[in-house]
Amino acid sequence: VGCAIEVLRRIAVTLIDISVAYGADTPPWPGDTPYSCGWAWDMSQGASVNVGRVQTSWHVGTHADAPLHVSPSGAPSETLPLTHFTGAARVIDVSAHDADAVLSVDDLAAHVGNALAAPRLLLHTGRCVANGHFPDAWPTLSPAAAAWLVSRGLQLLGTDAPSVDARSATTLQVHAALFGGGAYVLENLHLSHAMPGMYQLTAYPVLVHGADAAPVRAVLDPIAPA
Ligand SMILES: [Zn+2]
Repeated sequence: VGCAIEVLRRIAVTLIDISVAYGADTPPWPGDTPYSCGWAWDMSQGASVNVGRVQTSWHVGTHADAPLHVSPSGAPSETLPLTHFTGAARVIDVSAHDADAVLSVDDLAAHVGNALAAPRLLLHTGRCVANGHFPDAWPTLSPAAAAWLVSRGLQLLGTDAPSVDARSATTLQVHAALFGGGAYVLENLHLSHAMPGMYQLTAYPVLVHGADAAPVRAVLDPIAPA
């Protein structure tokens, strides 16, 4: 029992929660549906239980986009493959780049080297809705850089920014390059307290049907993967 308690204590100390809440204080993409929660049944009004009713865009908090988000014929949220959302992940810090920087293959190679250290890459841009305001711009990848990652075995690209594409993008070419190569996306991570390095990521999308994205509770375990 003592050993089990010690293991639990270690987990409690070392897990890093990199999630942004679905909450009224989290700014949505301008024009998108903010999170709000009311009561369907309310005990203060005489009901026997409290039961909430939620209205929100799926994109308010930390989430995984489904291919349906960027294509009418794209796969919906229930098809997001769990294996892509758990395992070895690398955090890199790109926050020193200009807010509107578009990282080329060479820029990216300068951060990650020629071989990916892990099939999941998380970009700390420092432009994050967890700060309480929606950023005007954030560093992104060129479509060629996204394709370069996929060609090297990338399964998942995460960012602490609201999108893997630029705020001004209308064709969402980075999303398309990733989904087209069988890779997936995490957006609105909270990486300010996750130092660059190797982690074990657990970020399972919630099982919702027919949606363009699904909420995620994303957690890093800083014990370097074997
Ligand atoms: Zn999204």
